[in-house]
Amino acid sequence: MSDKGQNQGRKLLAVFAHPDDESFICGGTLAKYAAEGVDITLVSATRGEMGRRMGNPPYLNRETIPTAREQELKNACDCLGIRQLRFFDIRDKTVEFVDREALVARIEALIRDLDPDVMLTFHEKLGGHPDHCAIGWATTEACRRAGRLESLYFISFGGMMEQPERYGYTRRDVVKVDVSAHLPAKLAAFRAHRCQSEIDEWVWRSDREALSRFGSHEYFLRAAPAPASDAAGRGARGLF
Ligand SMILES: [Zn+2]
Repeated sequence: MSDKGQNQGRKLLAVFAHPDDESFICGGTLAKYAAEGVDITLVSATRGEMGRRMGNPPYLNRETIPTAREQELKNACDCLGIRQLRFFDIRDKTVEFVDREALVARIEALIRDLDPDVMLTFHEKLGGHPDHCAIGWATTEACRRAGRLESLYFISFGGMMEQPERYGYTRRDVVKVDVSAHLPAKLAAFRAHRCQSEIDEWVWRSDREALSRFGSHEYFLRAAPAPASDAAGRGARGLF
């Protein structure tokens, strides 16, 4: 069976902190599901306006960077096939300081409104940046309150979840997605985030060379324990 349309009509909600989180961390998976007909809504809590990368050579400043990054994110969404994009308008680098209850309530309302089949966010401890951890915590709490923890997965960086034991997890907690057919879309999204990726010389080499830098899989951690699988191994698959 062809991939096309196999997840038609299903919905994914991704709640991240900055423009580029979606592309740099799990762009292959988002492109794959979009190609399969999944309706993806992406939330970026901030516009990434405090990013230290201002283009190479620098051509942005603190006044121009929010608009530039917003536009770059829209372009990246086009590359990946993401149709809905929302901003929470939180100031970059301050997600951990906003009213936590208000943030959780906002995400919970979105979950109830969209009724997604799958949700993605950052792990509240393994997020690697205070904004990532804060939006991950709030999204996890919102899912818990909405009774949807079994639909939630945490994104992870590169191949770190090839060895989940190092982080206190087991292989059953990890879902591995083959994104090899969707790496050109991921590369296009990297390039769409021009002011952030410009300094990474490999991104701008030939497509063949740049694509060879990507792993063939992206890894996700379940927020809830894997369901028991049947004799054929079905049931514990995860994501879509
Ligand atoms: Zn980020």
